[in-house]
Amino acid sequence: MMNKYRLMSPGPTPIPPEVSAAGALPIIHHRTPEFGEVFTRVNEALKRVFLTENDVFTYAASGTGAFEGAVQNLFSPGDKILVVNNGNFGGRWVKVGKAFGLEVTELKYDWGQKADNDEVAEALANDPEIKAAVCVLSETSTGTVNDIEGFAKAASNVVTIVDAVSGLGACELRTDDWGIDVVVAGSQKALMTPPGLGFVSVSERAMRMHEEAKMPRFYFDWTAAKKAYAKDPAQTAWTPAVSLIIQLDVALRQLLDEGVENVFGRHVLLGRASREGIKGMGLSLFGPDEDLNSAVTAAWVPEGVDGKQLVRMIFREHGIQIAGGQADMAGRIFRIGHCGYFDAFDIIATIAATELALESLDFPVELGKGVGAAQRVFSKSGVTA
Ligand SMILES: *Cc1c(COP(=O)(O)O)cnc(C)c1O
Repeated sequence: MMNKYRLMSPGPTPIPPEVSAAGALPIIHHRTPEFGEVFTRVNEALKRVFLTENDVFTYAASGTGAFEGAVQNLFSPGDKILVVNNGNFGGRWVKVGKAFGLEVTELKYDWGQKADNDEVAEALANDPEIKAAVCVLSETSTGTVNDIEGFAKAASNVVTIVDAVSGLGACELRTDDWGIDVVVAGSQKALMTPPGLGFVSVSERAMRMHEEAKMPRFYFDWTAAKKAYAKDPAQTAWTPAVSLIIQLDVALRQLLDEGVENVFGRHVLLGRASREGIKGMGLSLFGPDEDLNSAVTAAWVPEGVDGKQLVRMIFREHGIQIAGGQADMAGRIFRIGHCGYFDAFDIIATIAATELALESLDFPVELGKGVGAAQRVFSKSGVTA
């Protein structure tokens, strides 16, 4: 049977048709008032999504590039940082820090577990030489969302860096209210834009640290970015990804039309429906059953089922691309991404396809049990599963 393609991965994610269409517009020159108008609007919209008055710099890079840039801009070789590591991305920031000659104190948790902010405070109190602390908002490899408000409090004496690549535009994140110095994000997750843009918001305290930092840098240099952004209209230091920024302009307008608080609320429901659907079909969640986990839902592959085959079958037979587990979790968990351009029926269809695939793999499911549980989350009757 013909299937529609449905991308239900936690990045890249599907984009609205209006955002696709904007990608087909002619390339305009980046040093013109016409591009300046778009770029100024994008910068203002980004601040409203980051909930910050700080500069938000945009780079032609994935999220990892923007993060690497933050390391180059903030530190000198040998500086000490604390990294909370409760998944694949926390683990990546340990590696990036070490690659640039930083002394990394790692606060490690099992995958799926949430970071303990009392331990963050304790680790920082034990070593006053630590200059900055890193934590991931939505740990995409597990679906677990860390308490970033608590993290920012626990680490308020040092520069705080938050990886919000899959979380920004999905999970509650209040950059200025919570006092987060540096927030890193990317275009291809909840921001409903193709892959290729990396973002970083930089507080005044982080900018002061940057001015003392000795790490070599060029492309990602925040001083160069700040100088270009201060022009009228604002510019980028180097050639920007013109088409992606034009697409981002459309995506951010849609996000802001929906309203940032409503976007948070929609993601809470998408997460809740995914978890109820998983439990309803008799599977076990990976990680806590919490509304905080609103960007990605991870579940254990049940005993006797080949996890890679399950993910392949949901795609081949039903056209729905979910994600498997990363690293040690490959084949053991599967992940449903719902950060960005997703609605109730994306979740219901994915739960339905998962039930069908499990049935084909001879796992005992009663068709519709997961679907019903997911539907009840969205039901106007208010009867929850
Ligand atoms: C996707 C992602 C990244 C960055 O990955 P890129 O492929 O470099 O964009 C970093 N952290 C988290 C939590 C992510 O989900």
